[in-house]
Amino acid sequence: MDSALCWVMMECPQGKILRESLEALSVGLSFQKQYNMETSVLWTGLLPEDSQLDYLASMGVKRILCLEEAGGRGDRDEALLFGLQELYLQNNPQYVFFGATPLSLFLAPRLAVLVDVGYVAKATYLRKIGDALSLTRPLMQGALSEVLRFIPPTRGLVSLYPRAFDVPGSPGDRPSEELTKEIHQSAVPVEGAGYREVIERTLEPAEALEVEDAEIVVAGGKGMQTEANFALLQELAKCLGGAVAASRIAVDLGWAPKERLVGQTGKKVFPELYIACGISGAHQHQAGMKEARHILAVNTDPQAPIFQIATWGILGDATEVVTQMIGRLRGMREEQGD
Ligand SMILES: Cc1cc2nc3c(=O)[nH]c(=O)nc-3n(C[C@H](O)[C@H](O)[C@H](O)COP(=O)(O)OP(=O)(O)OC[C@H]3O[C@@H](n4cnc5c(N)ncnc54)[C@H](O)[C@@H]3O)c2cc1C
Repeated sequence: MDSALCWVMMECPQGKILRESLEALSVGLSFQKQYNMETSVLWTGLLPEDSQLDYLASMGVKRILCLEEAGGRGDRDEALLFGLQELYLQNNPQYVFFGATPLSLFLAPRLAVLVDVGYVAKATYLRKIGDALSLTRPLMQGALSEVLRFIPPTRGLVSLYPRAFDVPGSPGDRPSEELTKEIHQSAVPVEGAGYREVIERTLEPAEALEVEDAEIVVAGGKGMQTEANFALLQELAKCLGGAVAASRIAVDLGWAPKERLVGQTGKKVFPELYIACGISGAHQHQAGMKEARHILAVNTDPQAPIFQIATWGILGDATEVVTQMIGRLRGMREEQGD
């Protein structure tokens, strides 16, 4: 079988590869393995360090195309887009996978229009059936699921649903590939050209982190007992760099805004760690969080359903446990001189 090209967009804005990009890499690598495709990495942000190149080579990547930002005032994202368009047209990859980052979600649909291929957003499952790529994605907060495919000649761009894919595991003892690194320039951003202008970018404080974007979610339910106790969850989330979420009852009691509701009628989250404090784990709540990689449940009732899906459980008063966790984390921070 001929090997076709598949690309993975990887972003490394502050020298650290974004988790969403690793999720996209994981999909690209599975295509390389299962469908005999050649997976290359399209890299943006700071140029890769040797250790990052070694990592990619050890995972089986043979080619990395670094798209370096050209200097100039103007919209850098649009300049990247035009650089990407040029690279795409020179190489014609069959598929390009994007993680669910703001930059990728800006680039992917626009690139699809520029290079005249299909685009599917928020894919949760991808599978090749013969020459066709079948993609599944949720609609209407997961109430509806849609299966799509690209019309032949079946090329397209795909952005992934956040946290729906694991990051790649360890390479094991497989020998590293010979990795070819190419450096390309994005288009020069021209001030006043293009359609939009980014006025300002600010790093938001932890409490502003959207619950679906957080790697760690600290969720509270009726078992937090009072609004004041519930407010402690914000403190814990801050110590962990996470976001606060709530059960339906906590929202109905006015302890948290409805944007923080997790579950069947709320948000679906896929964090690395979900800490459920005083939440029984009704199936409507589980519908929004059971895909978390790890779940820590704190509850006074050993029969609470949340313990059935928890990775770890603490039997005890949630307010007391949360207070102790905050104390320990603050102590650790002081020891580290932060
Ligand atoms: C159509 C429909 C849609 C729904 N959608 C959602 C949804 O999207 N999200 C959602 O969350 N719910 C939803 N619900 C409601 C859901 O069924 C539950 O009622 C709700 O999740 C319960 O919230 P809770 O766990 O905070 O409260 P409870 O079920 O009352 O549980 C409180 C828990 O706290 C424990 N507890 C008590 N005191 C302490 C203490 N001191 N320390 C530690 N633990 C303690 C108790 O043992 C208990 O397990 C929906 C319901 C329906 C009918």
